[in-house]
Amino acid sequence: MTSELVDTMTGCRMRLAMPAGGRQDAVRFRTRFPIPSTLMSTSTNSRLSWPDLPEQAGEEIDIFETELNRFLDGQMPEKVFLEFRLRHGVYGQRQDGTQMLRIKIPLGILTARHCEVLADLSEEYADSISHITTRQDVQYHFVDILDTPNIMRRLASCGITTKEACGNTVRNVTCCPDAGVCADELFDVTPHARAMAYFLLRHPDAQNFGRKFKISFSGCHQHHCGLARIHDIGAIAATKEIDGEEVEGFTVYVGGGLGAVPHQAQLYSEFVPADEMLPLAQAIARVFARLGEKKQRARARMKFLVASLGVDEFRKNIEEELDRLPEDALREKIMEEAHAQKEEALKPPSELDLESPGLDESFKIWHRHNVRAQGQNGYSMVTVSLALGDLTADQLRGVGTLSRKYIKGTIRATVPQNLLLRWVSNEDLPALYRDLDDLRLAAPLADSVADITACPGTDSCKLGIASSRGLAGVLHRQFIQDAVTGQGMGDGDGGLRDDITIKISGCFNSCAQHHIANIGFFGTSKRKSGRVAPLFQVILGGTAENNADSYGLMVAKVPARRAPEVIRKLTGIYDSEKREGESFRDCMERLGKARIHEDLEEFSEVGESEADFFDNRQPWEYIKEVGKGECAGEMVDQAEFMLDDAERMIFEASLHLEAAKNQDAARVSFEGMEKAADGLLSTRGLLLSDNYDTHSEFKKHFIDTGEFLIGVAEYYGKAHAEGAEEVSAERSRQRVEESNLFIEEAHILYSRMAGSQVK
Ligand code: SF4
Repeated sequence: MTSELVDTMTGCRMRLAMPAGGRQDAVRFRTRFPIPSTLMSTSTNSRLSWPDLPEQAGEEIDIFETELNRFLDGQMPEKVFLEFRLRHGVYGQRQDGTQMLRIKIPLGILTARHCEVLADLSEEYADSISHITTRQDVQYHFVDILDTPNIMRRLASCGITTKEACGNTVRNVTCCPDAGVCADELFDVTPHARAMAYFLLRHPDAQNFGRKFKISFSGCHQHHCGLARIHDIGAIAATKEIDGEEVEGFTVYVGGGLGAVPHQAQLYSEFVPADEMLPLAQAIARVFARLGEKKQRARARMKFLVASLGVDEFRKNIEEELDRLPEDALREKIMEEAHAQKEEALKPPSELDLESPGLDESFKIWHRHNVRAQGQNGYSMVTVSLALGDLTADQLRGVGTLSRKYIKGTIRATVPQNLLLRWVSNEDLPALYRDLDDLRLAAPLADSVADITACPGTDSCKLGIASSRGLAGVLHRQFIQDAVTGQGMGDGDGGLRDDITIKISGCFNSCAQHHIANIGFFGTSKRKSGRVAPLFQVILGGTAENNADSYGLMVAKVPARRAPEVIRKLTGIYDSEKREGESFRDCMERLGKARIHEDLEEFSEVGESEADFFDNRQPWEYIKEVGKGECAGEMVDQAEFMLDDAERMIFEASLHLEAAKNQDAARVSFEGMEKAADGLLSTRGLLLSDNYDTHSEFKKHFIDTGEFLIGVAEYYGKAHAEGAEEVSAERSRQRVEESNLFIEEAHILYSRMAGSQVK
């Protein structure tokens, strides 16, 4: 039974497949969103969207929708569904009933078509804002969870996925946005980062982590783009002469991370040849899955494993794992395909004379701040500065249009939450500036003090304590004013100073990377006279330079609304005390924490002013509301996931039965038993990527040992013996029933095993 609804926004028809005796609440049934042909990828640079999602993407979204419906029908435990939806990028917001959707943009690479589809979807399903994150992702806020499958399908139509954007997975692989066009890079790390992103996406060895896992690639040691030292795996381009030939590879760091307890990544190897990076990452994933903490969430990041083992012992484990790693032809294939992707210019190179009379002053200021020469003569990189990383739908669509006009869709989202347009032919810069200005995207703020990084904070994050975006908004407005007047943060030349960085997190979790800012803040609070005041901890001395080789330290705690004064005080100290050529960080380090603490003493009293009980940009008195965070997801181990997936398969098999598709019902119910068996085997350390024989391993571990109820285990043996042979309608029905019993028994055994572990 089917019915059609028309999407009022797009005119597209949604076919609603109703189970027999279908319920009235149609939205909760499986929906199919036919992709309009206008939404299919037509990018002039469509190769950059490679590889379009694997074929399983459509099936994966169907499964997501089925699980969503099962959860809504009370058939799936909330804990399992939470981690399941996180692994599809769906994250609960502070506001009940609304979701943030994180969209994975590997390496931040966007095409014109991506921009257009993302803009359309933000208008149709979110609040019209696309937010660039510090992992080069895009996020929507205020999304209805019932809309998420349709959004995923539309994204998949242009090669974008939300898969593994959140949860205990390999998060978006980040990469210098300048890679391939940077004058200082050793070589272009783009293909290596891209291969890593697609190799680990959905990889079976990367599904059983206790926490998230982050990887970055950098083309040089000295700049701030790659941030290798804050990553679980940080790879920095290196070369080595081997047998008289220069070989490309990476200096590899492991076990870094920010958060409440920041760790700097430790040197794993000075040089790993580039073609050994995928096996190395796979081996690290397997060791992390096997030895990493799974019960205590606060200690489950890989940084704790590296710290507790010591980097030498960790390396020994990895080397042993590398020896055990099965051959995998996919690694080579994926590397070849990644290297085949070439970015190219739309226009020939050209020169621009900045002294020519036709160029106005505002263009020159913008050029000074937002334009950098590429390694290739005649071309420039242009930073599109975004206030708080946000773009309206019209702006994002406009960027897509401009990228068709001036470049070949060669756009990258950056870690400091801006966009980078690459391969702009120099003589096009004045016209591009005017077009960006029409979109209100020509602010000359790149790398300036107003290029502030802020996490969502209390705007939407459940863990937010103080308003990070509120403070960033206040500072942004003040600094823009300074640029106009030439006072304060103004550089006296129409722009803003660029020797200080500011990053603001709403709590200690450091999503805005406050530890690696020159001046970092994170939100906290204090009770005073029966009221609660929002505060910011001030962190000084961090830097993103040299791949983030220095983390800042706390120096003071100040009322949230006084944070702007603190910044002015600190910059004043720097300006009056700095020595020739001394950076802000070096100056603060020389002056010492005690001296700075003393200088900030005047801000430390809380409750002296009524304003202390109000947060930035919030006209109401502060109320502390901190919920349970979802950053890390729940601790749901692989077995639990697989058992739940097996249940979904039985549900699917029963739908096949209902539709008289007996062979499909028989096949899927057998696959469900195999899935449950694999789930149990994962508790014995078996890895799917080892391609073991499920039936014989299950027999060895659970039947021969008498652990699994023998009468029920026989159902699996029987279905296994029948193989793919055609079965009768009656046998098909029986197999669905038997599979159901088998999976029930697997659940019971798993609970028993988990219970005995707890004891
Ligand atoms: S730093 Fe805290 S408030 Fe900000 S997004 Fe992360 S968890 Fe939320």
